[in-house]
Amino acid sequence: MTLRPSNLPKLAICACFEPNPDAGSAAARGTMLDGVFRRRVHGDKSDDTAVAKDELDAVDWAINQIAAIAGTTEIVTAEARCKIECLGLTGTADAWLPELGMSADLKTGQLRNYREQMAAYALGFMEATFCSEWTAHLLFCDQRQFVTYRFNYEEAKAVVSEVIAQFHDPAKQPVPCDYCSWCAKAETCPARLELAAAALTPAGPAFNFEAVLADDEQLGQFLSACAVLDDFRERAEEIAKKRLIGGDKIPGWKLSSRKAPEFVYHDAVGRYIDRFGFGAVLGAYGNLSGAKFRELWAAKMPADTPFPEELIQRGAGSVSLRRVSTKPTTTKPTLTNA
Ligand code: SF4
Repeated sequence: MTLRPSNLPKLAICACFEPNPDAGSAAARGTMLDGVFRRRVHGDKSDDTAVAKDELDAVDWAINQIAAIAGTTEIVTAEARCKIECLGLTGTADAWLPELGMSADLKTGQLRNYREQMAAYALGFMEATFCSEWTAHLLFCDQRQFVTYRFNYEEAKAVVSEVIAQFHDPAKQPVPCDYCSWCAKAETCPARLELAAAALTPAGPAFNFEAVLADDEQLGQFLSACAVLDDFRERAEEIAKKRLIGGDKIPGWKLSSRKAPEFVYHDAVGRYIDRFGFGAVLGAYGNLSGAKFRELWAAKMPADTPFPEELIQRGAGSVSLRRVSTKPTTTKPTLTNA
């Protein structure tokens, strides 16, 4: 596997990670929007007809952020000028600002850690421009969130070197984590198979769910095993669906189809808004998220108009479980109280 800056955040968690050559639709969308961003920053609107408005809005948010930072200074997005090299790695940033010692990357999806990738870009740019400090901005366009990393040369080099050393460590062990579903080894990785096997074949004479619930250690192991089984179930469902469509019989399973949902484009609704009444249409659409309202306010209201904070309502918060990576253990997880 060729080490690339984009894989460093994953390798920092699991040094055995290997990118899946079939990166999936989310990655394809990210690549597509990167291209739109590169062109649109410089006023090229050739994507207007081919890309959905929501997607263009997300990219435009990112462009406004980078333009505000750059001011009158140059923004470079041409791929050939955004290439970096450091410690034997090569990669391509989405944009950089030569006069400000900054780079920027457009990110789609949820906020995630990209520190190690940004350190590699920072190191590459510092080496190419003889700067001793660098700022790397992340533009999370779906979330409308902006994250900034600052590195000096030694820090960036240390971050990247550590991940490279872990990757080359002959004693490295797989660490099941959030990145497993993007890993080429997801279906064969021994650490995941061991977890799944622990769920399917408990060490005790019988599965004792009460004992699992009563013991924090067993509860954690059980949830980790279920998370892996969930991934495997999704993959198994995909394959079963394809086979059933192809005419195979899968005992206990059949295809079930649902009517496609009906909808009306918002601009079509707009044509009837006078007759329906503004209030009725707004009521049918429901509440607007605070983030969307802030965005509209920023885009449409004069800059010196104070934001009406008192209009922002807050619902009840929620708490959910999130899996965190744990170092591999040498003993097989036990799920019963045997
Ligand atoms: S499947 Fe998960 S644990 Fe296994 S090598 Fe890949 S990232 Fe690491």
